[in-house]
Amino acid sequence: MLYIHIPYCHHKCTYCGFYSLAGHRDIDGYVDAVCREIELRHPFSPVRTVYFGGGTPTLLSATQLGRIVRALRDNCDLSQLEETTIEANPENLTPEYAESLANLGFFNRISIGIQSFNDKELKILNRVHNSRQAMDAIENAAKGGFTNISVDLIMGLPYQTVEGWKANLDRLTDNAAFSSVKHLSCYELTVEPGSILERQLQRGMVTLCDDETVGDQYQALQSWCRVYGFEQYEISNYCRPGFHSRHNSRYWDRTPYVGIGAAAHSFDGQRRRWNIADAEAYIEGCRTSRAGTPFPSPTGARVPSWASNSRNGVIPHEEELLTAKDAYNEYVMTSLRTVRGIEISKIDKEYLPQLLEKTEIFEKEGLLTIVNGFIVPTATGLLHADGIAERMFI
Ligand code: SF4
Repeated sequence: MLYIHIPYCHHKCTYCGFYSLAGHRDIDGYVDAVCREIELRHPFSPVRTVYFGGGTPTLLSATQLGRIVRALRDNCDLSQLEETTIEANPENLTPEYAESLANLGFFNRISIGIQSFNDKELKILNRVHNSRQAMDAIENAAKGGFTNISVDLIMGLPYQTVEGWKANLDRLTDNAAFSSVKHLSCYELTVEPGSILERQLQRGMVTLCDDETVGDQYQALQSWCRVYGFEQYEISNYCRPGFHSRHNSRYWDRTPYVGIGAAAHSFDGQRRRWNIADAEAYIEGCRTSRAGTPFPSPTGARVPSWASNSRNGVIPHEEELLTAKDAYNEYVMTSLRTVRGIEISKIDKEYLPQLLEKTEIFEKEGLLTIVNGFIVPTATGLLHADGIAERMFI
């Protein structure tokens, strides 16, 4: 499982809490660095999913993306590849660009950051695209050859009514390429620390939806999904049968993965590693790194290795050794957000009695149920998954 992070964006969206850089900067240098990191950190076990995320991966030209794809083909075992996704922003998905992406012969899934089909809402979010471009992007992706399209929408936007939210869903249904939309990610707007939205709220410049409106929007979404055959498989993710995101599902399963690029995270089953969130330092670190120094051996919790290692040739990064308790809490948190739930056999024996005791309490409240060895959230339980998980933490 490989994640490639492209941190560049046209400009900053108000709600953004990701590591992203407005402006193009040294994209060729960054592509060189990503290719170098792939070379340095291989061999990976056979790669089953690849995900290009950001930032905005579609700010890269098809030629630049093609260089990264070539580095993957040259260095990785791709014989078991199942899913290859690229995130795309609507303003980039012209017919020509969509076709050039498809011509790379690598991506079999595209995830388009539509967020809204309403021009006023898009302006509030400071998105680059408008509603026409949002509609065209889906059609262009389908015409370019993508038959597995995912669309991102955000609900609970400032001033958004339930009718306004339903209108967004209707626009999606009306799209000429709707049959190629196999997957939908619908997130509730959250206020990320340090985001422009947070400052706007502090200054009283915007007002968020109240909880009741968001609850009704969520119910409207559930009805829409029932009508159009989308099934919910995670708190924010819906798909036509068989089209769940293989890549994201494995994060929730705690499958090991390798993240390439500035600020990209990796997980080897015991340790988390995150590359430095500074594109220039990352480019320089990759340029001066030597082979044979990937993933330094664990030295305890949270090792700030990048400061010293950047001088002796390791890609600047930090890492953290997870305790059994961390692993338990992470698994409970991510799995309770899925309809699959917690696989009881995966729970450490030491923590099992406490987990079952708490499950019994939530069962009585109608929030959890036990089915075939899994602790599964009910429809209401899924809505409160984060709160339930926190109460189950050790
Ligand atoms: S496009 Fe995505 S990553 Fe870039 S600023 Fe907007 S929300 Fe952030």
